[in-house]
Amino acid sequence: MAKNSNIEWTDHTFNPWWGCQKVSPACANCYAETWARRVGADVWGAKSKRRFFGPNHWQEPLHWNTDAQREGQRKRVFCASMADVFEGRAELDAPRRRLWEVIRVTPWLDWLLLTKRPENIGRMAPWTATWPANVWIGTSVENQEWAKKRLPLLLQHPAKRRFLSCEPLLGPLDLSSWTVKRPSELHPIDWIIAGGESGPNARPMLPGWARTLRDQCQQSGIPFHFKQWGHWAPVAGRRNRNTQTVLSFWDDVAGEEVYMEAKGKKQAGRRLDGTTWDEIPKAA
Ligand code: SF4
Repeated sequence: MAKNSNIEWTDHTFNPWWGCQKVSPACANCYAETWARRVGADVWGAKSKRRFFGPNHWQEPLHWNTDAQREGQRKRVFCASMADVFEGRAELDAPRRRLWEVIRVTPWLDWLLLTKRPENIGRMAPWTATWPANVWIGTSVENQEWAKKRLPLLLQHPAKRRFLSCEPLLGPLDLSSWTVKRPSELHPIDWIIAGGESGPNARPMLPGWARTLRDQCQQSGIPFHFKQWGHWAPVAGRRNRNTQTVLSFWDDVAGEEVYMEAKGKKQAGRRLDGTTWDEIPKAA
C-alpha cells in the first residue's frame, strides 16, 4: 500500500477523532488546529465538540495490517496528528477503547502514540506491567521546563518503545537526568525526534539546541531523527544581518551570536551540519 503520510518517520497516520485543547507553549501555533479551521471543523478548545468518524475510517488500519502482513513488512502508524490520544474528555472514552481494540488486532502495525498529556496514560491506557510489542509511547518536550514535567511521567510506563518529540524545539534541552544518570525506577528513552516550527508565526530553533540534542543522543546511544529546521534556518555571517528576513540571536549553547533566515520549511531543509539524521529504533 502506498505511504499515506507526509511525515518521514511513519508510513500511515490515523486519527481516532479530530480536535484538542492547547496545553503548553508548543501548542501555540498548532498546525492541526489551523488545518481543522481551514476545512471548516470547529473542534478546538474546551467548548467545541470533537469530530468523530464512521466504520470505513476505522477499517483502514485493518487493511494496512493485512497489507503489511502480506508484504512481510511491519508498518508504523502515527496516532494522532489531529488530536491527542490521551485528552481527558468523557466523549473520548468510547473511541479510545475502540482504538485499543484496533491496536490489539493489528500486530503488523507499530502504533506510535504521541501525547502532551502523559499524566493521563496510567488511567487511560489498558496496559500496565506488560505492554504489547506494537505500541510505542511518546511525549512532546519543547524545552527544559516541559521535559521536567512530562518525561518522568512518560518513563514510568514500561512500553517496549518510548520516544520524545522535541518539536517545535523552543529551547535547549539537557536530558542527562534521564539518560546518563537515569533513576532506576524509570525506563530508558529509545528514540528522539527533533525539529523546528514551520508556518508564518514560527519560532526559530537555534542551531546549538539541535546540536546538543544530537550529541546527547550519540553519547547515550539513542537513535536521533532530525525532522526539519522549520521556517527558520541558520545562515552564516554578518553580511545578512540587516536584511528583512534574517534575525540575529544569542545562542547560549553555542556561546555565539547566530543568524536565522526565514527560508520556509522546504528550502530550510533537514540537514544538520551537512548530515541527514534519519535514525529510527527497530520494532520491538
Ligand atoms: S496537544 Fe497537540 S493537537 Fe492538541 S493543541 Fe497541542 S499541538 Fe495541537
